[in-house]
Amino acid sequence: MAMVARFRVATRASGIRRQVWVHVYDDVDELARAHNKDRGRPYDPDEDIGGGLASVGGWHWPQPDPGPVLVMRLWTKQLTTRTVAHEATHAAAVLFFADHVGGWDSRARTFFLGDNETLAYLIGDITSEVIGGLYRLHLLPSS
Ligand SMILES: [Zn+2]
Repeated sequence: MAMVARFRVATRASGIRRQVWVHVYDDVDELARAHNKDRGRPYDPDEDIGGGLASVGGWHWPQPDPGPVLVMRLWTKQLTTRTVAHEATHAAAVLFFADHVGGWDSRARTFFLGDNETLAYLIGDITSEVIGGLYRLHLLPSS
């Protein structure tokens, strides 16, 4: 079985209760296949993927469905702060622009639809470095 765990997280930070499914895989090819299938893209075995965020059914122009499913896919060998923060940023961008930014038909649309890779890398890198620094200073317990 390629998917080893599955759970949901929820937030009301955007003003509406929203959920993100988290699917954890031990087979990264299986992860990439599922991710690309949900995004309607072809599977590329050479794609470098340690995680992914897909909106499954629901982000249809001009109105989103009321209960779209966000699926975050993670690989057991890359369960890092960097990757989780990166994928969480993709999820947050979708919900932020859908629920919070007024005017669905705005220039922001392209960014919530997925043109937020740089933002995700920035937040992943910064979060990872800060957590690493806190560990080095023994302000977080090492397990
Ligand atoms: Zn990304």
